[in-house]
Amino acid sequence: MAKRQPLIAGNWKLNGSRHSVVELAAAVSAGCGAVSAEVLVCPTSVYLADVLGVVGNSAVHLGAQNCSQASDGAYTGEVSADMLVEFGCEYVILGHSERRAMYHEDSRLVAEKCLAVQAADMTPILCVGETLEQREADEVESVIAEQLDALLDAGGIASFENLVVAYEPVWAIGTGKTASPEQAQAVHALIRSRVASHNADTASALRILYGGSVKPDNAATLFAQPDIDGGLIGGAALDAESFLAICEAAA
Ligand code: PEP
Repeated sequence: MAKRQPLIAGNWKLNGSRHSVVELAAAVSAGCGAVSAEVLVCPTSVYLADVLGVVGNSAVHLGAQNCSQASDGAYTGEVSADMLVEFGCEYVILGHSERRAMYHEDSRLVAEKCLAVQAADMTPILCVGETLEQREADEVESVIAEQLDALLDAGGIASFENLVVAYEPVWAIGTGKTASPEQAQAVHALIRSRVASHNADTASALRILYGGSVKPDNAATLFAQPDIDGGLIGGAALDAESFLAICEAAA
C-alpha cells in the first residue's frame, strides 16, 4: 500500500484582518517545525500575499478557498487558478459545503474548477459530504457517489491522481458534532473503494481528509483510522495552539 503523508489544512474562511492573519500564520509557521504532517493554511484570497510573506520560507504550504473555473474574461469578482499560482498557492479547496449550499455550486461546476486548478499545476481539495437529512434517509453512499462521479465524468480517473478529497459531513461542520471515528472511517473506505473500482493504485495513493469539528481532543482517534489521512480544519484552525495540537496528532 502507498505511504500517504498526512495533510492538515486550515480553512480560515471569511475570518481575520490583515494584521491577525499575519500573526496567525507566523505562529503556525514558528510552531510546526517538528510536525511530520504536511501543514497547509488557506486564508481569504485578499490576504494571500501577506500570508505568503510569512510562510514563504517555512514548512507551511499556502492554499486558497475557491477559484474560478474560467481562466480569464468577463467574470466579475472571480479569481483564476493562474492568479492564485502567482501568490504561491499550491492547493485550492473546492466544493466546500458552504459554497455548494450558499452559492449553489453543483458537482459539475466543482469538477470544472478541479480541472482548472490541476491545469495550473495546483492540487484541488475536493470536499464531499452529506447533510443530516441525507444521512437519516440512508443516502450517504449515493450523495458521495454523485459528488465523486462528476469529476470522474469530467476528467476521468487521472483527475484523482493530483487531488485530495475531504469528507466533511455537513452536519458536523461548525456544529461541535463530530462524526465518530467509525462513522468517518466507513465513508472514507467507501470513497477509496469507489476510486479503486477505476484504478487501485490511484485509490491507494489518494489522501482523504476528514473535516467537521476536529479539535485537539478528538483529532488523534480520527487520524488513527486507516483511511483518514489528515484533516480539513475550520474553527480550530483560527487558534494557532489548537491547530498545532491537531497537526501533532497527525504524526
Ligand atoms: C470546515 O468548514 O471545513 C470545517 C471543517 O469547519 P469546522 O472545523 O469548524 O467544523
